[in-house]
Amino acid sequence: MTTYTPMIQQYLLIKSEYEDAFLFYRLGDFYEMFFEDAVKASQILEITLTSRDAGTKERIPMCGVPHHSAKGYIETLVSKGYKVAICEQTEDPKQAKGVVKREVVQLITPGTLMEGKTIDGKSNHFIASAEQLGENQFALAYLDISTGEAATAIIEGGSKALLQQLMALHIRELVVTEQLQILLAEQASNLGIVLSLEKQEMPEEKSGKYIVNLPKDLHGVAKNLLQYVERTQMRSLSHIQPFTYTETKQHLRIDTNSQRNLELLQSIRGGDEKGTLLWLLDETVTAMGGRKLKQWLHQPLANRNGIERRLAIVTDFLDEFFVRNELRELLKKVYDLERLAGRVAFGNVGGRDLAQLRESLRQVPFIKEQLLQSGKETLSSLGEKLDECTDVEQLLSKAITDHPPIAIKEGDVIREGYNDKLDELRFAARNGKDWIAQLEQKEREITGIKNLKIGYNRVFGYYIEITKSNVANADLSRYERKQTLANAERYITEELKEKEAIILNAEEQSLALEYDLFVELREQLKSFIPRVQALASSISELDVYISFAVVSEKYRFVKPAFHEGRALKIVGGRHPVVEKMLNKQMYVPNDCILTEDKNMMLITGPNMSGKSTFMRQVALIVVLAQMGCYVPADEAYLPITDQIFTRIGAADDLVAGQSTFMVEMLESQHAITNATANSLLLFDEIGRGTSTYDGMALAQSMMEYIHDKIGANTLFSTHYHELTALEQQLQRLQNVHVSATEKDGKVVFLHKVRQGAADKSYGVHVAQLAEMPEDIIERARVLLQQFESKDSGQEVVASIEDVPVEDGLQLSLFEEEKGNAGNREESHSLTQAEQEVLERLEKM
Ligand code: ADP
Repeated sequence: MTTYTPMIQQYLLIKSEYEDAFLFYRLGDFYEMFFEDAVKASQILEITLTSRDAGTKERIPMCGVPHHSAKGYIETLVSKGYKVAICEQTEDPKQAKGVVKREVVQLITPGTLMEGKTIDGKSNHFIASAEQLGENQFALAYLDISTGEAATAIIEGGSKALLQQLMALHIRELVVTEQLQILLAEQASNLGIVLSLEKQEMPEEKSGKYIVNLPKDLHGVAKNLLQYVERTQMRSLSHIQPFTYTETKQHLRIDTNSQRNLELLQSIRGGDEKGTLLWLLDETVTAMGGRKLKQWLHQPLANRNGIERRLAIVTDFLDEFFVRNELRELLKKVYDLERLAGRVAFGNVGGRDLAQLRESLRQVPFIKEQLLQSGKETLSSLGEKLDECTDVEQLLSKAITDHPPIAIKEGDVIREGYNDKLDELRFAARNGKDWIAQLEQKEREITGIKNLKIGYNRVFGYYIEITKSNVANADLSRYERKQTLANAERYITEELKEKEAIILNAEEQSLALEYDLFVELREQLKSFIPRVQALASSISELDVYISFAVVSEKYRFVKPAFHEGRALKIVGGRHPVVEKMLNKQMYVPNDCILTEDKNMMLITGPNMSGKSTFMRQVALIVVLAQMGCYVPADEAYLPITDQIFTRIGAADDLVAGQSTFMVEMLESQHAITNATANSLLLFDEIGRGTSTYDGMALAQSMMEYIHDKIGANTLFSTHYHELTALEQQLQRLQNVHVSATEKDGKVVFLHKVRQGAADKSYGVHVAQLAEMPEDIIERARVLLQQFESKDSGQEVVASIEDVPVEDGLQLSLFEEEKGNAGNREESHSLTQAEQEVLERLEKM
């Protein structure tokens, strides 16, 4: 090492503390990287790799990026999962003896990146820390540095559940101690989560205020996270809010898997938000509201009071169209208060940010007034809670100009009248400029040169400029020549230089003072951060409530009613997203009635008839209702559901085969071991990934288990018609089917859910209608009969051996339809063509 130049030695010393990061080493106007860092960064960033003399025999690899455009490069690296340590010169190079002092001033990591293209305003950007509590239990703490929100959770279900939760929260970086680092290394890297080691915890004196609301078990993990954030960010964390902890009992829990299956926040195909419940629901107009909506969707409530309070507010907003509209217009003028507060705390707030903060605060009195004058009790009480932060608004109005520039060192940020000294300096500078304007006039008169002008540049300062054609004829003895251009000469006078000194001095001083005042103001604002954050939270909730009202009105949702029991009754329910996506076609509403004594449903019907849509719509209605939103139905009478579990196969499951079957079993296992009597279970086509009897046996035994041991509200769909016979054995099970009919030789899906099981031989009927050769039809009938009699002797349905299987299976689709005539379900009446088909089928 001794052979390296002192600068490279300094570099290596600093780099040794940041082994796992790219060290951006400030050298003049560039951030330079050396050695391995340079080689790797040049590839990733596609910048030129050069080399540098380092005092040794061989030159060392080097690459660099200009400091003014470094942001983009840093973002690229960090978004790819790397860390970047920013190493600045911490003394003036002119004053330095030897190598300029340098220090790392911030470590930017995937979880602490605050701005850039990859940071979506409507999403939180969390960094998390985890700690193992028990064999299957983990403590989790997470916070969003840009908004200051901080929360915790206790995760049951082992490392898998932990990782699922991290994915659900879109966490890119997890802070861990050594033990967990080893345990999670492989899984985390597969999921693209960066693990960062933090051995220390923030001491109690410092961390105390952040952890006041937490049970003891969660202190460690929160302190560990705080320590890491402080160590890497090296600045104030004053905007970080105390960590929250809500007992899981307070929320409707939906595991990540089910969140995906139900397409709450992400579509199954991934990527695009289109087609998700969020996509349908998001009518928020502020970024904060957008984030709040996601949080609510993540964690709907599970306490009746909370839900009903939200519903009452939505109801009032639905009633008050004008109030709602006025408020929306006002909210559109509110900027991201949470992120603005974060920037104040971080000390990177600019003039324009403060103008945005002020503009936002100016809306609050109007928002408040709208709420108070609405005449609705729930809305008035929301209004009363709003802190207008008038003092902050007044301070900003007094201090900041109307249209400050982004940069804070170029002046024009602090308003006149805010500071006497600043006003004086500005007056002096302006006065000087007036004097110069007068001087120009005066010199023109004396010399008689009309186009004489006074200009300014950085090198020569102020000068008098006269074009060459005029020089010869004038008396310029009072002037001193300073510069000759192609067609003009530039001069100065003593008087001009004296004035210049005064002006420049005043300008320089005023800029410096302005900057100091700005920094002072920024410090002063820090004390208001908690109030601005509380305001932000109220405003974001308001935005979500209004969004709920807008959506509920737009899509004709109704208010759900809750009760203490477990019965679930949805009349005329719809899948809101499928409905929205259907163009022209009408969505066929369906009922779902689960009573205390019949709370399991077995759904049969041909492929594409709408079984899975029906199941999902029930879950979505439960989710919406427990978020506090109205629901897509004519009527909904609901229990408080504690958890939703789904096993819904994706379309490609069938192709993927065995390994997918394992996934299916794992998901089912997870549901069955964690569900309670208050849960909602959805099982779509269980067992189809394996052989028929295998699958059927598993499906039956799972149903029996849920029936006997769990008692949860359960929807099961199957294409094993044999299972419909279980209705005889399991008291709480009811058969329903999704009907289909035929038209012009083609299957027409009615998408209507009806009582009883579907007709197994429906396929053969359809084949016949499609004018399949009679021989084939006959043969199919014979085979079918054989299969059926074989089935009835099988062990799989052994428990119902004494039940005449034919009865169970022959609940013909069409007999059933006829039998239901006059029923409410007939509201979707058959077309004449369909009637004819039915009649033809009858006669067969
Ligand atoms: P299955 O699970 O029976 O194979 P799906 O639930 O996937 O069938 O439904 C197939 C398609 O039928 C859906 O993508 C949707 O377009 C349409 N569909 C389903 N249910 C309805 C309904 N109630 N009204 C209108 N169209 C529906």
